[in-house]
Amino acid sequence: MSGLEGVRGEFYDGLWMQRILHGALSGKNPGETGRGYIHMIFTGRLFGTYDGRRYHARVILAGSPALISTSGLVEAPAKPREYYFIKGGLVRSGQDVSELDIMYKGRYVEYDDPKISPILSSYALQAVYYELTGGEFCGNTGCCLYNSHWQEEVLKVQYEGSICEKCLEALREAG
Ligand SMILES: [Zn+2]
Repeated sequence: MSGLEGVRGEFYDGLWMQRILHGALSGKNPGETGRGYIHMIFTGRLFGTYDGRRYHARVILAGSPALISTSGLVEAPAKPREYYFIKGGLVRSGQDVSELDIMYKGRYVEYDDPKISPILSSYALQAVYYELTGGEFCGNTGCCLYNSHWQEEVLKVQYEGSICEKCLEALREAG
């Protein structure tokens, strides 16, 4: 669902970025890249990973260092399906699409959205979870460690939700 259509500016390969940054960190603080250390880099740059066919924009790439992108948060999770349907029709008929954005306001995260910081704390928690337990995402659709593919899921779980009992327990055991 992570279409890159309409994305302006540069797009980075997340694994490549991670490798370069890992190299830079190990050069600078050699003792701080192993277990027991978590480095997180928050960036406005958009990155993604390649699945063998195409690139998918990502919000987070867990690992060393973990990369978390504010642009990824806006661009990677998809808006409601009908939003794209209506937008396609408007674009084809040469009409203005700005009213559509007003109609759907609040159903997705925007650039400079005040919701971005609280949402990023869920993704930061995910990076910690990965480092401590090796687990990527949680399958529980009510847990803030769930791998949201839709903006509406992000707003429901990463913004309004909290960590589930099972993940909390796993963190307690690992910590
Ligand atoms: Zn969970």
